[in-house]
Amino acid sequence: MKLSKLATEIAESPTFALNEEARLLRERGEAVINLGIGEPKNKTPIAAVLASGAKLTSGEVKYTPPDGLPAMKKAIIRYTEENYNRLAAPENVIVTNGAKQSLFNIFYSILNPQDEVIVIAPYWVSYPEIIKMCYGVPVIVTPEDGTFTPNFAEIERAVTSYTRAIIINSPNNPSGAIYPSELVAKIVEFCERKGIYLICDDIYHKLTFDRNVAEPAWKFTSRDIENSHIIVVNGVAKLYGMTGFRIGWVVAPKDLIKVMTNVQAQTTSCVSPVSQAAAEGALNGMQSVVEALRLQIENNRNVVLQEMKSFAGARLIPPQGTFYALPDLRAFGASSVDMAKFILKKALVVTVPGREFGMEGFIRLSFAGSVKDVTEGLARIRWALDPTSPNEIYIGDKKLIRDWL
Ligand code: PMP
Repeated sequence: MKLSKLATEIAESPTFALNEEARLLRERGEAVINLGIGEPKNKTPIAAVLASGAKLTSGEVKYTPPDGLPAMKKAIIRYTEENYNRLAAPENVIVTNGAKQSLFNIFYSILNPQDEVIVIAPYWVSYPEIIKMCYGVPVIVTPEDGTFTPNFAEIERAVTSYTRAIIINSPNNPSGAIYPSELVAKIVEFCERKGIYLICDDIYHKLTFDRNVAEPAWKFTSRDIENSHIIVVNGVAKLYGMTGFRIGWVVAPKDLIKVMTNVQAQTTSCVSPVSQAAAEGALNGMQSVVEALRLQIENNRNVVLQEMKSFAGARLIPPQGTFYALPDLRAFGASSVDMAKFILKKALVVTVPGREFGMEGFIRLSFAGSVKDVTEGLARIRWALDPTSPNEIYIGDKKLIRDWL
């Protein structure tokens, strides 16, 4: 069979693949705990349910403008003003099928073949793949061992005449790190001076702990949206736990939004009005739902910190936001893929190998689920790897004895 070289080189999404594996195991009656996928367990906010329900009941579910419904854009404009202190025009906004499509549209619209994008490790798995799909070249900058924050000089060093953009994600998937404001300020100044786009994937921006805040890049420039190189990506998947509605958006200069709109119009045409109504409902509804989710996740993060304290051999930089932890398990001497497989086989816990995020020897754990799953999942991982933990455990109703350490 003849297939495209480019398409066949695109990696499978590891999180979706692992999710499927967990589903199959669960179907077989196994007591699997999924600490793999990044998906809050909350119910859809009521404002979103009512708004999308009303749209469905109207029976008017048709094509929408390719850049989004005016009412949804209005909600985004208000969100931008409230959270970023910037005045956006409707032409500065595009609504997309999830933040993932936002990123695809951006890269497709700014990259010529061989153009480079600076991606900072640990990075979200999809960045390098989406960049490659758009004929670009991801250039990875890795932070000094023992930290999850990049060194500004390293970023500067990685920039060439081919660099079109730097992408940052703070709070960060998979590490939970928030980049220090001074670093963000330096990157903003550098990008504005060099005419390089700064793509801010802000999908977790309100999920921060211990009163930490992730200062938005726009805070560090006086330019308005139209004259800046800052591109902001956001969505409802994480803050509102609305992953299945597939709503994301981009705020950027008008010329770029126009090109992205053409790209979107020729690929997915537009975004479903049912989903847009839901997202509009969420953005205009009670914002206490975001705080409730944040509190629940902060509590889960505290459970993770507590459990990790007694995990001999594992080192964890405490996550400051998101719902991911990225413990360093290099002391166990195995590859991250082998470790994730081992943890799944022995302890029936789904995790994601750090290799997928540019951090070999690390394992990503999602603590977006129930506190019970997080506690039990971590106890099982410890049982599988840490010889100082008790060697007996109950998994489901089976008592298991560790006989490999
Ligand atoms: N960016 C980051 C950093 C993410 O973690 C995710 C989802 N895992 C996305 C973007 C994509 O979000 P969406 O579901 O809205 O496409």
